[in-house]
Amino acid sequence: MADHAKYSPSQLSRIIKCPGSVKLCTDIPSTTSRYAEEGTLLHKVMENTLNTRILVDPALDAHLAKEAEKHKLNKEQTRACEEALQYFKEVWAEARLEGIVSSRLEMKASLAYLNIPECYGTADVVIKTYDSLHIMDWKFGQGIEVSPKDNPQFMAYALGSVSSLKELTDYKHIHMHVVQPRLNNMYCVTHDSADALLCWCEETLRPALQAAETTAPCNPGEEQCRWCNAKQDCLARYEYAKQIASEVWAMHARKSTVKDEDLAALLEDAKFLKVYIADLEKLALERALDGRALPGYKVVHGRTSRSWADEEAAREYLLARDDVDFEDLFEQKFVTPPKAEKLFKGAKKDETLQALIHKTVGKPTLAKDSDPRKEYAPSAVNAFEKYADNSFVKHVKARRAQ
Ligand code: SF4
Repeated sequence: MADHAKYSPSQLSRIIKCPGSVKLCTDIPSTTSRYAEEGTLLHKVMENTLNTRILVDPALDAHLAKEAEKHKLNKEQTRACEEALQYFKEVWAEARLEGIVSSRLEMKASLAYLNIPECYGTADVVIKTYDSLHIMDWKFGQGIEVSPKDNPQFMAYALGSVSSLKELTDYKHIHMHVVQPRLNNMYCVTHDSADALLCWCEETLRPALQAAETTAPCNPGEEQCRWCNAKQDCLARYEYAKQIASEVWAMHARKSTVKDEDLAALLEDAKFLKVYIADLEKLALERALDGRALPGYKVVHGRTSRSWADEEAAREYLLARDDVDFEDLFEQKFVTPPKAEKLFKGAKKDETLQALIHKTVGKPTLAKDSDPRKEYAPSAVNAFEKYADNSFVKHVKARRAQ
């Protein structure tokens, strides 16, 4: 889609948290990254594959293989697209049982019929059956796991994929599918009526967009500021970082007396400060690379890695030497579990393979209450491990070994 919406669904999460960011971001060109470019490429491959309209399984697989070759995808990228396609086929098969009324790829989802004309975007796949609306979004990122639950982007796509309120309220089920194959994160969240979506539209989205049209103040926070185009020059973000920094220092001065609840509250803010500092370092490097002088600093090469410039020539040279043993030149290592899981389809669900994988217990780490991982429980083993460096334990181990 060539034009850019003032309220793009992909930006709604930030806009709802900080309506003031809309004005600040106007006229700031968006930047791209190699991850974003790779995501665009993989979206294109999926679109071209499904656009063949030959919705027969083997034909789709063959088209994907052709597209992958045409766009020079590597094995891992191809595997990610294959897994996304597999998920699509499963949803498509279910939809066929329900009776497909229409299906669209790269559909313009617009909230114009709800009188929010400037909120629109492109939904990757929209399948409509007699009873259900399916919205599917490809996510090829590997960093943050995306959830369709309470996700403004998915909710806007669902609201915008119909042409009228009647059509929306006629659906018995609204399924929002996230397809993030690289994190094995592919599932859907279902609403059994449009009520929750419409409530969100009236109680959250519309007031936020109305605030954005006025002189709404900026509201800094870790999530909304992280991807905001205005963050480098945002005064509100700067003031917030300054306030947190002073609280951190105040706490530092009275570490032993600080209350647990104050410490917990500050942990959240400290994340904001870390990102703020990382952004400052990035800015300084960009300036230095532009040739600007940063007093006391210079640009150097970071950690380097070494590889053969010409492996064949290196092999020949080393094989010809009398002082190098042939056996020392070649190594054969068995693949690691993550690599093995990429060797064949469905490896992550293969019970035999999974039973052969030993997973170590991670170090205790602080996480938010909402984190889906199980809470840490120190076991007898852990308690023993804690003393693994203890000289008495070493002594007992040594005695046993004798
Ligand atoms: S940097 Fe943060 S506070 Fe400033 S406009 Fe963007 S989201 Fe709002």
